[in-house]
Amino acid sequence: MTIPQMTVRDLVRENAFQIVMYIVGAVIIGLVWWPLAAIYLAYCILSNVLFMAWVCPYCGHYSLGTCASGFHILSGRRFKAKLGTTFARQFRRNVSWMALGWFLPPIAGIYLLIVDFSWAILVLLSVFCVVAFWLLPESSRKHCEGCETGDCPRRLRVR
Ligand code: SF4
Repeated sequence: MTIPQMTVRDLVRENAFQIVMYIVGAVIIGLVWWPLAAIYLAYCILSNVLFMAWVCPYCGHYSLGTCASGFHILSGRRFKAKLGTTFARQFRRNVSWMALGWFLPPIAGIYLLIVDFSWAILVLLSVFCVVAFWLLPESSRKHCEGCETGDCPRRLRVR
């Protein structure tokens, strides 16, 4: 069976909510102090690369080339699984530091609202929360439905 190759457009579409979340998050954090926006974006890129290195090699989609996020393409499949661990263990070990990407912008937004309330910041914070905590999980849930990675902790939650 031939597996269709993802294009750059597919990659952007599949990761659109996450890209929007990171950009809006950087804008919010940058309003506290502009260099923090660059640090946040650098952290977001690094955390995704480390996810590809430490979690993706244990997922069946990575080696099959069927990852809906296209992480097998972005990483060039250069990361290899090590013996003695599983996808579920790697996911649990590494998901918490990735969560900072979701929680730093709301912390910065609430701080800004407290010290100098503005409707613009409230709108930015609302957009961030809708994308990060509703649209993105809904999109991930659709990806996970029917996934055959049996020991994935995310799969257990969506069933
Ligand atoms: S489905 Fe998830 S864990 Fe699997 S390769 Fe893609 S991003 Fe990585």
